[in-house]
Amino acid sequence: MNLLEQQLHYPLGDTLPAQGATVAVASGVRWIRMALPFALNHINLWLLEDEIEGQRGWSVVDCCISADASRTQWEAIFATQLGGLPILRVIVTHMHPDHIGLASWLCARWNAPLWISATDYFVAGHNILHSSGNGGPGAAEFFQKHGLTDPESVAKIRARTGYFSAMVPALPPSFVRMQDGQTLRIGGRDWRCISGYGHAPEHIALYCSETRVLIGGDMMLPRISTNVSVFDVEPESNPLQQFLESIDKFAPLHPDTLTLPAHGKPFQGLHTRIRQLHDHHRDHLARVMAFAQQQPCSASDILPVLFTRQLDLHQITFAMGEAVAHLHKLWVDGYLQRTRGADGVYRFNPTALAYPESAALEPSEAIPVSA
Ligand SMILES: [Zn+2]
Repeated sequence: MNLLEQQLHYPLGDTLPAQGATVAVASGVRWIRMALPFALNHINLWLLEDEIEGQRGWSVVDCCISADASRTQWEAIFATQLGGLPILRVIVTHMHPDHIGLASWLCARWNAPLWISATDYFVAGHNILHSSGNGGPGAAEFFQKHGLTDPESVAKIRARTGYFSAMVPALPPSFVRMQDGQTLRIGGRDWRCISGYGHAPEHIALYCSETRVLIGGDMMLPRISTNVSVFDVEPESNPLQQFLESIDKFAPLHPDTLTLPAHGKPFQGLHTRIRQLHDHHRDHLARVMAFAQQQPCSASDILPVLFTRQLDLHQITFAMGEAVAHLHKLWVDGYLQRTRGADGVYRFNPTALAYPESAALEPSEAIPVSA
């Protein structure tokens, strides 16, 4: 447990659901933990007791990637954890492969509808058709513009098409829209949709004020910081600003809220975690600014400023997106300006606007992951 985690409370201690089993975490809510074949080695999914049009059953939140191992884990859940009741609805917080991958299979298997934000439904469809984000020609060109010019890495990124569709082969042909402020009636309780930006196009978290439970998805993780990246499909975006504004939308929730994160363990200390995430990014922004004051820098130049660990190519693609996100916030806020060199690389250097004195810099705890 790191220093920041010690400021949070894990009410279930070190309890984890075994493969194919579930753990009750709140009234009407059960926790499923499935293995993922990445550095981020698991995802949490949730089973909610439900009743729709007189039919008792379950709503599931998030699906895991499409893979034989995930389907096997689901079959064990179906056989032993549903009490003979059906899955009535599949809710997906956002369109990343570990969350939406098996939605098509689950919906078809149970003849259940998919509930998701419209933005994420359509972006997922776009990504299935046009490999974008971490691989393909568009991503390679985008990372080159931001200083990742080593020919071997560029060639590997360019060749890495089909990354998304391998884990998300299909979508259900229709969906039910979730949007900010809407209330879902699940198992006789109201759950409010809270939209979040900066991590996914339109992430939806769910909050039940009656039981003080927040299904936070990837917007509120206890241990790792959520990946916040600029991608080639929206190259001028400012996702770090969006993310910081979005997590403040959780601030009005009850201090005792039990947050159910997509990665890590259920925790209390939501307001502490919001503050930690602000501190973390403020610290990163200050480091980037201090570095840029020494010499004009590209996103590639600042990777060692943000990430102290050795990164493999997969992690570099996420780290690059995150580095651009930090530069873009400082650029949009007016502290940095951007010029494109004769080599085609964007470099950032300070404007005349004074950067506010920041808190003392602390060692980075950031881990670039695909969450
Ligand atoms: Zn995600």
